[in-house]
Amino acid sequence: MAQQEDLFKKIVSHCKEYGFVFPSSEIYDGLGAVYDYGQNGVELKNNIKKYWWDSMTLLNENVVGIDSAIFMHPTIWKASGHVDAFNDPLIDNKDSKKRYRADVLIEEQIAKYEDKINKEVEKAAKKFGDAFDREQFVSTHPRVLENQAKKEILHTRFAQALNENNLEELRQIIVDYEIVCPVSGTRNWTEVRQFNLMFATEMGSTADGTMKVYLRPETAQGIFVNFLNVQKTGRMKIPFGIAQIGKAFRNEIVARQFIFRMREFEQMEMQFFVRPGEELEWFAKWKEIRMKWHQALGLGKHKYRYHDHDKLAHYANAATDIEFEMPFGFKEVEGIHSRTDFDLSSHEKYSGKKMQYFDPELNKSYVPYVIETSIGVDRMFLSILSGSYDEEMLENGESRVVLRLPAALAPVKLAVLPLVKKDGLPEKAEEIIHALKFDFNCQYDEKDSIGKRYRRQDAIGTPFCVTIDHDTPVDHCVTIRYRDSMQQERVSIDQLHAIITDKVSMKNLFKQIVVQ
Ligand code: ATP
Repeated sequence: MAQQEDLFKKIVSHCKEYGFVFPSSEIYDGLGAVYDYGQNGVELKNNIKKYWWDSMTLLNENVVGIDSAIFMHPTIWKASGHVDAFNDPLIDNKDSKKRYRADVLIEEQIAKYEDKINKEVEKAAKKFGDAFDREQFVSTHPRVLENQAKKEILHTRFAQALNENNLEELRQIIVDYEIVCPVSGTRNWTEVRQFNLMFATEMGSTADGTMKVYLRPETAQGIFVNFLNVQKTGRMKIPFGIAQIGKAFRNEIVARQFIFRMREFEQMEMQFFVRPGEELEWFAKWKEIRMKWHQALGLGKHKYRYHDHDKLAHYANAATDIEFEMPFGFKEVEGIHSRTDFDLSSHEKYSGKKMQYFDPELNKSYVPYVIETSIGVDRMFLSILSGSYDEEMLENGESRVVLRLPAALAPVKLAVLPLVKKDGLPEKAEEIIHALKFDFNCQYDEKDSIGKRYRRQDAIGTPFCVTIDHDTPVDHCVTIRYRDSMQQERVSIDQLHAIITDKVSMKNLFKQIVVQ
């Protein structure tokens, strides 16, 4: 565990040192849970967004995009339920004065039982090797069964308290399970209170009053209120989807996990409109497609899992999260929800406008049902960094830090390095960059030894380094060095474009996602 925390700290400082993520307003001591992306961070973030956007709009003929405004009519948030119910249960520890989400404290307790079970399984798997029968072990081993039972009891009680919105019971669970504040170590808790996460501000001048407006806490509502605009102008036929990438804002209670939980963040959401009754089929389909999208990145299939929801939001009839194994455990990166016709019906009610679709095949109108896929760009960014960060011991006793980023997402694709700063080598390097820069983000570096320059590129995840030496002007060949294997190969300059394209093209990722 300590090792994992250590890893997380290293990733955070690596992000800062190599221009990926900076604390916002740093010279003024920062602003809680707000971050800026640096020169490498913004490239990685843009590549993640492109990977998502193209996977939605290119691979699916029936998915189109929009870009709606952050400010929206305040009644939208009434209709969506956010004004009344976008709350988190908060609890304070009176000794440390630290604030927590009561539900998260209890979830962590549940995770402890899971950890205990996993440890038993790992231990036994090691002991029995190939002969290990996981299913049998899990269903018979006394300590596993005991922890499983404890977990289920707590889970049922927790789910019931959440469903009934019973804040006293949430507190009682924390008391009964002797959950302590990680900072003070005490059980001196306040009551549990509800806290609305929306940021509000005012719009308009003072003359005829101002209107209270909200910074959107999700991008989805911008899609719902434009549903008919897109359907009509795009002549879309159900089933079809609308995708959007944009900023969202939440006044999160606990903000101590770097870019995992931010107050200003970015979402990539897609609402898929379907016939009522067909939603669960589409839910299953999108669940599968989205997992493939994650796994195509090659960070390791075992790092992802589904977490099906027991407590469904009042509007949902199925929901799952895709979780990624962060340094601080498996955490939600994406949510997939079957939202029924809740949002469109509610907007119909509040706006007085029909939000219906005439289905020519059925010859009737209805309010479509919706499957939503919702993923945070920043969480995705963190999952990719966590999955790519590696400290490797080399044969010569040195070590290197390397970001094994999926090549298609790497901020810089190619570094071009003249062996020396003279003899026409820098000019040759410039020539190569000029030929490749229209297709790839290239970086020129002539400072320090080649070894140091390789390390700098490893640290930002550049998949290829190309070195120009004294033979290059004569034989038109360069040495290409591969980030992961550190293998070097002499290739003709003319081959570079094809070698790089083969590895960095998103096409290779897309091919793994398309469901035939
Ligand atoms: P959590 O339970 O972690 O607060 P959530 O279930 O409220 O998340 P959703 O409302 O389903 O999250 O939002 C969809 C996605 O948006 C999440 O899967 C996550 O990737 C991202 N997201 C939500 N809140 C934040 C945040 N505060 N900072 C960064 N990303 C976020």
